[in-house]
Amino acid sequence: MNFKKRLPKLRMTVQLSAMVLIALGILYGLPFAKGAFIIAAIFMGPVFCGWVCHFGAMQDILAKIGRYLKIKSRFLPERIRLLMMPLRYILLAVTLLTSASFILNIFTFDPRSNFESFLLGNSIAYFGWAVIAAFLGLSLFHDRPFCSTLCIEGAKYGALSLVRPLTIVRNADACVQCGKCDASCPMQIDISHNDAVQSPQCIDCMNCISACPKNDALSFSLKQKKKKPATLVASLLIVAALFVSSLGSFTASTDMTVSLADTVSGTEDITSGDASGVLDGVYTGTGTGYRGNITINVTVEDELITEVALVSSSDDSRWLNRAYSTVVSEILSEQTAGVDTASGATYSSVGIEEAVANALIDAGSTVAEAIESDLPAASEHTHGKGRSF
Ligand code: SF4
Ligand code: SF4
Repeated sequence: MNFKKRLPKLRMTVQLSAMVLIALGILYGLPFAKGAFIIAAIFMGPVFCGWVCHFGAMQDILAKIGRYLKIKSRFLPERIRLLMMPLRYILLAVTLLTSASFILNIFTFDPRSNFESFLLGNSIAYFGWAVIAAFLGLSLFHDRPFCSTLCIEGAKYGALSLVRPLTIVRNADACVQCGKCDASCPMQIDISHNDAVQSPQCIDCMNCISACPKNDALSFSLKQKKKKPATLVASLLIVAALFVSSLGSFTASTDMTVSLADTVSGTEDITSGDASGVLDGVYTGTGTGYRGNITINVTVEDELITEVALVSSSDDSRWLNRAYSTVVSEILSEQTAGVDTASGATYSSVGIEEAVANALIDAGSTVAEAIESDLPAASEHTHGKGRSF
């Protein structure tokens, strides 16, 4: 059997391995993983979607089960496909261009984020299970229903791939126009009538190459045809803007410090809370955020919490910043770790509160001990949680 026929099995093996690494909290914790997927998308397309994404893999598994059950895979009628296709790019633009709270709630409805949350061992709300079940159920009848229409993450990688030099290239001399590549494409891309795949919908799954009966008709190689100058400039601008915004969602800055003086004008009216009986000093505590541990240094002076500084966290900066700016100010002004969580960033909020409480418990606070046991589990909240990159 030649290599291209082995590609589907190889891809499924990589997808399942990636899912295990995600569940163990290893893959996204690797320092260069996010950057590597972004750079790969710019040069060779959304490798992440075709080979790594846990929810993409789940949709592929359900599609295989559908074929096993003899359920015929159906394509969307062309008119409906054209109507649905822009949706995920519109959602991506809205999330990048606005900071309204309701945008955060989009991610509560996102089956990919919900499934990742489940993999990471967090409990998810009934509604989260419902959206996962709906899209996995649809996958029995139609390939990648979520990826092709609503996934914001996939839209980002797709848009980053607009200038990719490496893509699926068709050799018109060898192609016999059998259409098997088109029929195998989960994203309904017209491959057989083009010299190269230019669509941002392509997920680099390589199904088209495996399905092609001719050995040299399709290849993953450098495309020869250049874009028109105006299209190229527009594509470059989109890619540059997305690249810069993606950098912002990398691992959170470790330089996040809020002091009591930043949050209240004078300390005369502040009474001691969780730091009662704690000696002056800097104490370190750890809590569990969305993607793992959040470590924080807490400074205590005269039995008051006077400074809270982030040491490390793997949570996405967008959500961590949101939680940090709200929760830490409250902790300082209320002098307790038991404050309300930030809407839309519940997991990061609870992680911060836990870390502060644990730092104070280690310092000998009995008040913080009681507070820590009362802290809510992030999953008890119904609103959004940090999304993945
Ligand atoms: S489109 Fe979204 S859900 Fe689909 S594979 Fe890509 S990131 Fe995953
Ligand atoms: S064009 Fe080929 S590689 Fe791209 S999504 Fe379709 S089948 Fe997969």
